[in-house]
Amino acid sequence: MPQATSYDVVIVGAGLAGLQCCLALLREDEGRSLRIALVDPRDYSDNDKTWCYWDRSHDFGDLIYHEWSYAQVFPSSDDDTAEKARLIDLRPYRYKMIRSIDFYESALRQINQSPQVDRIRALATEVGDMQVNCDDGSLLTGRYILDSRLPDDLFSHSQSIMIHQHFLGWYIEIDKPLWNPDKMTMMDFRLQYGRSTSFCYVLPVSETKALIEYTLFTDSLLKHEDYQRLISAYIEKYVTTSKYKIIERESGVIPMSSYPFQQHNSTYYQRIGTAGGWVRASTGYSFYRSIVYSKAIAAAIVKSEALPRIAGSKWRERKMRFYDTLLLRILKDDNAIGAHIFYRFYQQRTLAAALPFLDGRSSIWQDLQIILSLPKKPFIKALVSR
Ligand SMILES: Cc1cc2nc3c(=O)[nH]c(=O)nc-3n(C[C@H](O)[C@H](O)[C@H](O)COP(=O)(O)OP(=O)(O)OC[C@H]3O[C@@H](n4cnc5c(N)ncnc54)[C@H](O)[C@@H]3O)c2cc1C
Repeated sequence: MPQATSYDVVIVGAGLAGLQCCLALLREDEGRSLRIALVDPRDYSDNDKTWCYWDRSHDFGDLIYHEWSYAQVFPSSDDDTAEKARLIDLRPYRYKMIRSIDFYESALRQINQSPQVDRIRALATEVGDMQVNCDDGSLLTGRYILDSRLPDDLFSHSQSIMIHQHFLGWYIEIDKPLWNPDKMTMMDFRLQYGRSTSFCYVLPVSETKALIEYTLFTDSLLKHEDYQRLISAYIEKYVTTSKYKIIERESGVIPMSSYPFQQHNSTYYQRIGTAGGWVRASTGYSFYRSIVYSKAIAAAIVKSEALPRIAGSKWRERKMRFYDTLLLRILKDDNAIGAHIFYRFYQQRTLAAALPFLDGRSSIWQDLQIILSLPKKPFIKALVSR
């Protein structure tokens, strides 16, 4: 039996959620007494993700790579209720972009300087309520365990609805100025893949450079060459017929699921990040929530309290889960209608109400206004078939 090393907190996985929790613990622990183990074998040489979120605060000021005040949404060409592209003034919010490589570098700089954190460069092979075994033979015990590993049955759980948000992104550069760097395209439904909820997302970071992602919300994935074909067709048809250079590529699959993530949590053990249900099931966003949830977890640990039951506990979370499950059901039963629903969603009179709705920060009154503006039939059908 290897000798166990004991910690106050063992964090399994040092991606977005693990690093956010570790930073939040270092910030909250004014007495500098907590001992933390951060377990992850990965290296951080790539910009593997581009995180975007909306916010009105100045958090992460120095890490923001780019931000936008305006967004546009284009309807699908067969959407007869939709007349034209909708331009949205996001203010007082800003849509913000952080490159993961910048976040990792900044987080690891702070973590490596702290004598409170041991980085264990190994894969956790067994994780229990109080201990973690790693593939390098180390055994770690913790009063608290925060675990980023996805539940084994996430993709096979028969009682939950699973839709994948999957995409290929290209950072492209063109010769002549083309974009307004203060205006991004949230969803462009003009080039759809068959009868599916599929769209392009365009994030110009200068007049000549933009990240363009072809994205689908469907239950099965495509072949790599299909994403390539779709993204290049979109660029040719709607962006430019001139030559362009691909400077970087990004791809991903984000589970949008009604899976009961909270069933794995207990008083001192909690799944975090995607594994903890922090990804909003109807949008695939989790960056903002990971800031909020990490703070709440760190505050509880510093006070030696039980971990807060986050996803699926408070009424606000339950309410979001209810809305998300309805939308997932609609996307499962009639995938193509998603284009119409999302377009209508972004037609709200003020986005100041719609953006908090996406984060679950809206009031019941704001929720009602938004729900009443959406096509009723698919929601009623989804409600009846629950
Ligand atoms: C390409 C991409 C782009 C995204 N863009 C956005 C966005 O714009 N906005 C947004 O809000 N959300 C976005 N998301 C969704 C979500 O915010 C990210 O997936 C986010 O990284 C989730 O954080 P996480 O910590 O759960 O997972 P990750 O960041 O993937 O981290 C998990 C970590 O756990 C480690 N790990 C796994 N198993 C073990 C093990 N057994 N032992 C030790 N370590 C282990 C991995 O090595 C990894 O470092 C995006 C997702 C992807 C894939």
